[in-house]
Amino acid sequence: MAVPKRKTSPSKRGMRRSHDALSVESFQECPNCGELKRPHNLCTACGHYNGREIVSVEA
Ligand SMILES: [Zn+2]
Repeated sequence: MAVPKRKTSPSKRGMRRSHDALSVESFQECPNCGELKRPHNLCTACGHYNGREIVSVEA
C-alpha cells in the first residue's frame, strides 16, 4: 500500500482546507408574495414560479 513519506504540516493542511468553507446560500424576493426564496426554485411560501401558481399551498 502506498504510504505518505512525510506527515502533512499544519501549513499544508490549512492550505488544502482553505476551500472547504461552506458559502452562504443566495436568496431572492418572491415577486408574488415578497418572501425570500432560492433563485430558480419554486417559492415555498406561496407555491408560485415565473408568475403563476405551480403548487397550491394550504393556509
Ligand atoms: Zn411567494
